[in-house]
Amino acid sequence: MANKNVILLIIDTLMLPFLKKAVDNKMAPAFAFFMKHGTASEIISPFPTMSVNVESSLLTGHYSDVHHVPGLVWFHDEEKRLINYGTNASELLQLGLATSLKDPLYNINHEHLNKKAATIFEELSKKGKNSASINGLLYRGSQEKVMQLPFLLSLLPTFHRSLAVKGPDLLTYGSFIKQNPFAKYGHFWQRFGFNNRFSAQELIYLIKNHSLPPFTMVYFPDMDQIIHKKGVEDLSGIVKTDRELQKVLDSFHSWEEALKNNVWIIMGDNGQAVVRPRNQNPLIHLEKLLSSYRITKLSKGVRKDDDIVLAVNQRMAFVYLLQPNHSLEEIANILKTDARIDVIAWREEEKIKVVSGRREGMLMFKKGGQWEDPYGSMWTLNGDIEVLDIFTEGSRIKYGEYPDALARLHAAALSHKGQFLMISAYPGFEFKYGSSPVHVGGASHGGLHQHDSLAAIIVSGTERLPKYNRMIDVKDWILSMLDS
Ligand SMILES: [Zn+2]
Repeated sequence: MANKNVILLIIDTLMLPFLKKAVDNKMAPAFAFFMKHGTASEIISPFPTMSVNVESSLLTGHYSDVHHVPGLVWFHDEEKRLINYGTNASELLQLGLATSLKDPLYNINHEHLNKKAATIFEELSKKGKNSASINGLLYRGSQEKVMQLPFLLSLLPTFHRSLAVKGPDLLTYGSFIKQNPFAKYGHFWQRFGFNNRFSAQELIYLIKNHSLPPFTMVYFPDMDQIIHKKGVEDLSGIVKTDRELQKVLDSFHSWEEALKNNVWIIMGDNGQAVVRPRNQNPLIHLEKLLSSYRITKLSKGVRKDDDIVLAVNQRMAFVYLLQPNHSLEEIANILKTDARIDVIAWREEEKIKVVSGRREGMLMFKKGGQWEDPYGSMWTLNGDIEVLDIFTEGSRIKYGEYPDALARLHAAALSHKGQFLMISAYPGFEFKYGSSPVHVGGASHGGLHQHDSLAAIIVSGTERLPKYNRMIDVKDWILSMLDS
């Protein structure tokens, strides 16, 4: 029997409790159909819980210590500049629009994503199997592709009208490169096609033309902004996404037929945590907490005597130390006076140190040792395990509020060069610096907490599941399904 095709739909911010609620209330018939003919559970996102890091982990099967895309915003130690793949336009303007646009459009796939970490598209290509990426931010493959940039972008000094990239056999990246020549919803006011309707339309085009390759990955971006604004309880994003999934199912002769030749994996990329309303002190102003240091101003770039660079990823931040006369521990001691910061971690040689604004003590850990985590990794632990809400049972450790905490922190600490702290906010709160976007009274992500870290996953059309419920285990699982 021939292998089924695998279709991976990434629905930004799809979370299991709210998905179940929508399905129980009969608000989401397409999701209900996939769940009825499959299994629904939760899967752990990498840290920081930001889409670009998540997609890099999904495609390479590794955390950021291997794939090297640390987060949405990070500081490039060699180039001495802040990389920002696009939190908002005003931040990009401050960074200099032309150079900064090159980061999300080109550098992330072709410079930052580790060339030695093969993507699933590259591995399939080696095996002579075709694949497709629709609207993924990360799409690196083995085939030469040419994107057509909109006229406005081509006026910027770093860009020409066309941009040569490497992608899978079939690549859709908004209206810059697409499958359906008559595609709608791709105008600049529709975010150049980076929206759910455009994604669904491109997938339907492949289905109707009988050109689905063995593996297709499709990214549906819209729910992120809806949850940010309206909060985690809001079900309108699930309802809207479901309408697009209904159209996808309708493009087959029957919904049942959609399952016959295809495995469907429908998953979120990260969760979101509530951000409290204005009168409950939701924003952690980092420039106030760290006012005794000279912090680099976005608009000025790094100056010689700056002490600190801040890279805010919503509920997570990297705090970089530039001067040798201060220490990371000294900065950690200031940060932990704020009870809204629940994880503060940094690397000292091969050791990771962790303190908290909510829990007493310090935990030190390193790779290798006598403690085994639920994913078969071994660790050495010293100090107060309560800091990371870890429990022991014989020689095994169990995680509480922070899923796969040791491996995720360890990977983030090794994801890029520089001396830095990684800080994560307790649910209810969000970091703020300069023009970083905030979501007061709504929801946000980036953090290590389970609210940020658990996404829904529905699997239908196969009995097989990934080895562990982590996103880094998805790639091998898909490859094995296409191999057998
Ligand atoms: Zn978001």
